[in-house]
Amino acid sequence: MPHPLGDELTELHVHLGGAVDPAALWSIAHRQGIRLPSRDYWEFVDLITVKKGSRKSFEEFLMLYRWTELIQSSPLAVEESVYEVVGGAYRKANITTLELRYNPMKRNRGGEQDLDHIIMASIRGVDRALLEYPVKAGLIFCLDRTMDMGLNEIIVDKAIAYRHRGVVAVDIAGPANPAFHYRDYAALFKRARQAGLGITVHAGEDEDWHSVDEVVRYLEPDRIGHGIHAAQDAGLCRRLAERNILLEVCPTSNLHTRVVRDNEELAGYLAVFRKHKVRFSLNTDGPEMLQTTLREELKGAVRNGLVSKEELAQCGQWAQEASFIK
Ligand SMILES: [Zn+2]
Repeated sequence: MPHPLGDELTELHVHLGGAVDPAALWSIAHRQGIRLPSRDYWEFVDLITVKKGSRKSFEEFLMLYRWTELIQSSPLAVEESVYEVVGGAYRKANITTLELRYNPMKRNRGGEQDLDHIIMASIRGVDRALLEYPVKAGLIFCLDRTMDMGLNEIIVDKAIAYRHRGVVAVDIAGPANPAFHYRDYAALFKRARQAGLGITVHAGEDEDWHSVDEVVRYLEPDRIGHGIHAAQDAGLCRRLAERNILLEVCPTSNLHTRVVRDNEELAGYLAVFRKHKVRFSLNTDGPEMLQTTLREELKGAVRNGLVSKEELAQCGQWAQEASFIK
C-alpha cells in the first residue's frame, strides 16, 4: 500500500533536540527518573515547544534545548530519541531521506557518560528505524560555537571514527560567542573533508552575510545551515552558486527566532537566491519543538509566497542531490 501522504520527501536540517515527539520524550524522561520542573504533561509540552504564533528571541529559542538535551543524555535516551525521530518523520511526513544532527558532547552529562556509548546508541536508533520503515537516514555531528576547540576536535574525531557506521557529516551550531571564529576551524574541517565527511555549517542565521562568507572561504562547506543573510551580498551569492553550495533554509524556525522580521523579508532573500541561481532546500530545523512538519512547511512556503509549486519540486530535487547519504 502506498504512503497515504503521497510523494517521498528529503529533509536535511533537523536537530535531535527539537525533533522528538513530546509524548515520547516525556516517557523517556520518566524511565530515567529525571526530575522535571513541570507539574504535568501539558506543562512539559509547554516547556519544550514554541507556541503557535508566538515568537522567541534566538537565545530564548536555544534555551528550549536545555531540557530536551538533558533528557536525551544517556545511551537509552539517545537510542529511543533517534529511533522515534526517524520513524516519526516517515509516518508523519513520508520523509524517506533524513539527516539528523546532534552534539554528542551535549548528551553525555558533561563527561559523566561515555561518548562512544552515546554515539553507538544513536546509530542503533537509526538501525532500528531502518528495519521498520523504507527510509534512509544519516547522522550529522554538531560542534558548538561555545565549546572550546579541544572538545570540538573530539567531536570531529568521533565523526571520522564512525563515518562508516552512519555518521555522514559535521556541522557547527549553538549560541553566538564573540570569541568564536569559523576560520579557526579550517584545519580541522579540512581533516573531516579528507576523511570523506560532508560539511555543513550554521551561518547567516542570527549573523549577517559575513559569517557565510567566512565559512565559504575557510571551511569549504557543501551546504550552509540557514544561510539566509547571504542574500545581503551579491558577490557572495555568486560564489555560493559557482561552488554549488546548498542553503538549508528553515522558514518557520527563522520566523520564531526573529532572525527574519516576516515572510516578506524571507521571500525577498529567496528572490535574491533565485536571481543568482543559489540552490536551497526547505527544512523544519526541529519539527516537534516548532510544532510543524516538513509537509506543513512546504505548503506554508507556497501559501506565504516564498516559492512557487514548481520551485517546491526543484527544492526537493536539490535536497536529494545535496544529501550526504549515498
Ligand atoms: Zn539548525
